[in-house]
Amino acid sequence: MPELAEVEYFRKRWDPGLGEAISAVQLHGEKRIFRGSDIRALKRGLVRQQFVRSEARGKQMLFHFSDDHWLGIHLGMSGQLRVEPAGFRPEKHDHLVLQQAKRALVFTDARLFGRVRFHRGKDAPEWWQASSPEIQTRAWSKAALARFLQRHGRAPIKAVLLLQSGFPGIGNWMADEILWRAHILPRVPAGKLSASQIAALWRATRFVARASLATIGNEWTDPPRSWLLHERWKEGGKCPRHRSALNRARIGGRTTAWCPRCQK
Ligand SMILES: [Zn+2]
Repeated sequence: MPELAEVEYFRKRWDPGLGEAISAVQLHGEKRIFRGSDIRALKRGLVRQQFVRSEARGKQMLFHFSDDHWLGIHLGMSGQLRVEPAGFRPEKHDHLVLQQAKRALVFTDARLFGRVRFHRGKDAPEWWQASSPEIQTRAWSKAALARFLQRHGRAPIKAVLLLQSGFPGIGNWMADEILWRAHILPRVPAGKLSASQIAALWRATRFVARASLATIGNEWTDPPRSWLLHERWKEGGKCPRHRSALNRARIGGRTTAWCPRCQK
């Protein structure tokens, strides 16, 4: 499932089309990814509009077009954005194609857990304005983190890290990476963390967000070999610090990997 850095990578795939007009819109309007959107308005509205800019927040993306037109895109489990040559003909899973004179901007989603939301208005849509502070911002402070952990104090910290209202963009692999770096056992209730553990969690979250944006988010280069990420899916995966075997269990409904020596 695309997380913070993967979302940023896909957002930039449409950049070649910036500043240029949409000449035609093709879409599979009956698919559930368009739920809640006025399909006819979307199809008509975007034609002749320029693609002005785009932004990502956590797992959400917002594409701004001229004359107050907006498209929100969530990649769900399997969504992807890409560019194809002009005159591209959509295939089965290409649910939205914005044709331009020189290229086609394509949204593909084989499993249909993604979402495309059309909005018309001077300001960005409400759901976008209401989004939680991003991990890279000053508003995502240690004090705000401590309050969030207290509010969800009984849940295992691993499950709390997956809540988009507190950790926008964090998904399964990033959560495991963060807890491993902060030396925190994934099962510990969020409300039981000490002040020094909260500080370590805050640092590790900021670090993993920044470093994955600089690698995966930037042309999909690999994070360093020293990351847990490379070991967590492997049969016989080992802790990158001292090569002891990783533990695995389902926590918060998701497969979780941790090192029994680093995380006690
Ligand atoms: Zn270890």
